[in-house]
Amino acid sequence: MSNPSAARVFFLSPLPADAEPDDAAIAASIAESDARDPRLSVLDLGASRGDGIFETLGVIDGRAHGIEDHLGRLVRSARMLDLPAPHLGQWRAAMERAVASLPSTGQGSLKIVLTRGIEGSGTPTAWIVARASTSDFAERRTGIRVVTLDRGWPLDVADRAPWLLAGAKTLSYAVNMAAIREAKRREADDALFVSSDGFALEGPTSSLLVRFGDTIVTPSTDGGILPGTTQAAIYRWLESEGRLAEYDTVPAARLAEADAAWFVSSVRLAAPITAIDDRQLAIDRDLTDGMNAMLLSR
Ligand code: PLP
Repeated sequence: MSNPSAARVFFLSPLPADAEPDDAAIAASIAESDARDPRLSVLDLGASRGDGIFETLGVIDGRAHGIEDHLGRLVRSARMLDLPAPHLGQWRAAMERAVASLPSTGQGSLKIVLTRGIEGSGTPTAWIVARASTSDFAERRTGIRVVTLDRGWPLDVADRAPWLLAGAKTLSYAVNMAAIREAKRREADDALFVSSDGFALEGPTSSLLVRFGDTIVTPSTDGGILPGTTQAAIYRWLESEGRLAEYDTVPAARLAEADAAWFVSSVRLAAPITAIDDRQLAIDRDLTDGMNAMLLSR
């Protein structure tokens, strides 16, 4: 857990994606303040409708991880929500300043947010919150218990109903948070969403990896799930290690045959799964330690 009152916030006056500002103009478009300062209007559509997008990056020893992967996904989410394309140079500069506000050792996070802005203004609101973490991330070693929860959408939801924004990283995370509360009511730590036609998808804040024998499988991202940046980094590493890593549909019934499984995400990194519903799973210690060592040191 982190102390939110210690966070710094960096507001951006969003530049058009094709603008060519010099460094001074970019610097002048970013304003730093304390996260407790009242800055967000009650008329902002991000606050009143959850109409916006976000990314969360892990920061380790003064370096933000996966900047380009997260910016790529921000651009993709903006396109899905018909938001103006972000100016990548401005976001990179703002992230650099946000990282510099954090301690040079230890772990933390950047949350970057782009909303549709104040109703009627047509101008998006954009900011980054930089926060140091005080968690010891014990779940990376001890693991988590998950329960499967029906997401209520079929696997082809993204094609069938793109307006549901399945697979975009929108600010509308109330459903995801409700799923985690339901998992806790069922005495688990986290939820694994399953499609209405019975396929394992993702967690409310993480991607699923499953090992069947020698092969690691993650659910295909065309099933209306978020393409995970941590999963992608782990796949690049697995491939460099000569291991088999595949994208596939994963019928929930097939989880009974899993030899190991993980939830992976930018801040928690790789958390081994020790139970899916009533089925216990052993922790694959070597692979878990290998993934986390790579994610911490990249
Ligand atoms: N799936 C969902 C729904 C998420 O919200 C997240 C991250 O918050 C992930 C997967 C994992 O993505 P990443 O590894 O880029 O953090």
